[in-house]
Amino acid sequence: MSKKMTITTKILIGMAMGLITGSLINAFAHDISFIQNYLVNGLFHVIGAAFVNALKMLVVPLVTFSLVCGVCGIGDVAVLGRVGIKAFSLYIATTGLAISLALIVAILIAPGQGFEQTAGTMSFTPNPAPPLTDVFINIIPGNPINAFAEGNMLQIIFFVIIFAIAMLMSGEAGRQLADTAEKLNVVMMKVVTLVMDFAPIGVFFLIAKTFSIEGISLILPMIGYFSVVILCLLLHGFGTFSLLLLIFARLNPWVFIKKMRPAHLFAFSTASSNATIPVTLQAVEKRLGVDNSTAAFTVPLGATINMDGTAIMQGVATVFIANVYGIDLAVSDYLTVVGMSILASIGTAGVPGVGLIMLAMVFNQVGLPVEGIGLILGVDRILDMVRTAVNITGDATVTCIVARSEQNLDDQIFQDPDAGIITEVELPHKNKHAFNK
Ligand code: ASP
Repeated sequence: MSKKMTITTKILIGMAMGLITGSLINAFAHDISFIQNYLVNGLFHVIGAAFVNALKMLVVPLVTFSLVCGVCGIGDVAVLGRVGIKAFSLYIATTGLAISLALIVAILIAPGQGFEQTAGTMSFTPNPAPPLTDVFINIIPGNPINAFAEGNMLQIIFFVIIFAIAMLMSGEAGRQLADTAEKLNVVMMKVVTLVMDFAPIGVFFLIAKTFSIEGISLILPMIGYFSVVILCLLLHGFGTFSLLLLIFARLNPWVFIKKMRPAHLFAFSTASSNATIPVTLQAVEKRLGVDNSTAAFTVPLGATINMDGTAIMQGVATVFIANVYGIDLAVSDYLTVVGMSILASIGTAGVPGVGLIMLAMVFNQVGLPVEGIGLILGVDRILDMVRTAVNITGDATVTCIVARSEQNLDDQIFQDPDAGIITEVELPHKNKHAFNK
């Protein structure tokens, strides 16, 4: 217990110190080139980026081994399809709830009305968003090695599932391979905990760099937009998810939130659902008690296709920019925003800042000026951190609901405050694959 508290507390201390250091640099030393060159863009950048790379390094092998074990654990293609359909529908439904909530709150509060464009509109040139038809075609990797090399999560998930199903159908050869995958999975989990030991330091440098550049004061002119996004993120993160957990998974949301804390801290610090996959997986399996056979599938899928926090930002940003430019949106425009946000969150990966690319797509569709995104650019990084934490909370919530419906959730682990202490590694071998059943 004390050990677990120590690592979480250490990460929190790292974050707080990073925030203070970064904000101080931004306030008092933003024009001292020595500090900018050697500290912010030197030390902070190098260690922070190295830490994010260390996290990303885990993602592809961990998802691969874990997903092979997951599919072999399910052992039945029909069950796999059922879990897939449940997870997919719930991801769409929660994103729909998120964007609707954001639109309603933003229309009621109306941020941006009377906003003076004194903050200086930064120009924004959007990267082209992928055409949605391609998104679906490209789920099937033309070259799986390429998919692995590029870390294309949807393609990796697709290939690994097909491969693991083939393993199930291959008798003794498949069984031996599944044994090996299970061992590799245990070792990979150990690598995760090794990397996490460096989390407090990594997090300090990441946050220090972000706040040195962004600075807290940047938020002030944008306070209206910023607070409405944060309000909606909190309402969805604590309200919607808690209700869903209570009703559909019969789980205590408070325990859930406490146990998700390490994953939240990582998501916040890295602003990337993808880079947080290893930590989310560990939290969901070892702390919340979800069986690997569900989590290995739903967590990486969620990190790729489920972005409730991002959808919330898009909803509020749409209303905000429409207000700033004095453009009236019709009900049909709002419905378009709902549809586009859902599709856009399926089509883009969970990496920092991707929400803005998707926002350009939404704006184009409803005829809002895309350069308006320049207005919200300044505060986007900080909002990105918070919305990424909401994104992964959505992944974990849906995972728990699906696991409960599949009787794949261990209440004893969920209730045990000591379960899944991050520095202790043993992966329970309860998820033996179907060959051994
Ligand atoms: N950073 C977010 C994520 O990885 C995506 C975004 O909103 O930009 O989940």
